[in-house]
Amino acid sequence: MTAPVASCEVAIIGAGPAGATLAYELLQGGLKPLILDKAVFPRIKVCAGGLTIKALKLLPPDLGPVLENEIRRVQLSFNLGRAFTKASQQPLLYTVSRQRFDAFLVERVRQAGGEFGDGERLEKIMAGPGDSSTLVTSRRLITARVVVGADGARSIVARCAGLQPVDFWHLGLQMEVPRNLMGESASGFTRTIYLDMGTMADGYAWVFPRGEVLLIGVGGALPQGPQLKRYHARLLSHLGLGEQSFPLAAHLVPHRVTPRPIMKGRVLLVGDAAGLADFWTGEGIFSALHSARLAARQILRFFRGETGALSDYQARVDREITPELTASYQFSKLFNYIGPLAFRCLERYDYPWEVFCRVMRGDRSFGEIKKRFRPDILFCKLLVKSARNRPIA
Ligand SMILES: Cc1cc2nc3c(=O)[nH]c(=O)nc-3n(C[C@H](O)[C@H](O)[C@H](O)COP(=O)(O)OP(=O)(O)OC[C@H]3O[C@@H](n4cnc5c(N)ncnc54)[C@H](O)[C@@H]3O)c2cc1C
Repeated sequence: MTAPVASCEVAIIGAGPAGATLAYELLQGGLKPLILDKAVFPRIKVCAGGLTIKALKLLPPDLGPVLENEIRRVQLSFNLGRAFTKASQQPLLYTVSRQRFDAFLVERVRQAGGEFGDGERLEKIMAGPGDSSTLVTSRRLITARVVVGADGARSIVARCAGLQPVDFWHLGLQMEVPRNLMGESASGFTRTIYLDMGTMADGYAWVFPRGEVLLIGVGGALPQGPQLKRYHARLLSHLGLGEQSFPLAAHLVPHRVTPRPIMKGRVLLVGDAAGLADFWTGEGIFSALHSARLAARQILRFFRGETGALSDYQARVDREITPELTASYQFSKLFNYIGPLAFRCLERYDYPWEVFCRVMRGDRSFGEIKKRFRPDILFCKLLVKSARNRPIA
């Protein structure tokens, strides 16, 4: 039996935040993209579900019902030792269930008239006919003039196009624990997230509250998998949950910190498929939304007759997103060297905390900080401040 054939101008593979945002933007611009996802929605996605204010600024204003905990405080520890808490006047982030958040974005696509095939897996891409591509899915053949890989960390679109956008892989391990198991101490995790740093190079641990559950996870370089598992076990004991056993879910986080190719001909990658998660913080939703918007703009221009518009996509990502990811990577490496000192500064002085808050809110970027970063001046400022704070004998 021959497979049914469909054709479209743009095929989007993957309906996470990147794919759903791209589909919506193209619909708004008058195109009729076809979006498909191998999972049946609403689907589970391993993620701490932290939506920073800078990500929120790229999302529809009626997202309200999907937002769960508003976070204004961060409790920090170094190597699971002594902890301190810093507070912000304004919200820093909100937590969401990825099941509900992603379903919300997909529903918005459906309501805008988008064609969404869930439970449909892309299996391979073949060249032709003409300048188009033919997609072989678990259900049918689809010919598309432009193909966008929004299919996450292990993108099959990237593989089929021969693209290798990822410089570094991180692994995230996460467990969902009912908050009542933590007894009294769980009440501290309503508007507060917990972060532990300095235990593993390039890694950190987190506790994010989301309604009645706590998301307890660790992330770090992929080759450190076994150490990460031990780190997670230590974290649970540290939180008084050593006896608890819940499924530990694992997922890859891809990092592109150099301008590796993320497009070839009429095939583009967005979000995790392009490796755009932040190396230091692990935040990936913001870049997924941002890259999807950049891709939408260039695809719309292409269909309006600007033939070079598609190839400008990579240049725009490398102008607007890559410098930020590179700077974050460099700060992360610096933190590995001066971890205990940086941690003490964060505890003692308000300035680094205020900068962190501004980054979370999108009012300052790692790229801007890097441009202004003068270690000599910073050192002098801290010296003066600590002299002022010292009691006079
Ligand atoms: C443990 C962990 C915690 C994290 N916490 C945060 C956080 O708090 N905040 C944050 O901003 N980021 C976080 N991230 C990163 C974030 O989850 C990703 O960066 C984000 O989901 C990327 O969105 P996306 O749309 O590019 O890809 P995804 O959300 O991964 O969506 C890709 C979609 O493609 C589909 N797909 C894959 N292959 C195929 C195929 N062959 N055919 C059809 N469909 C396919 C998948 O089913 C999926 O629905 C975390 C990641 C991990 C692992």
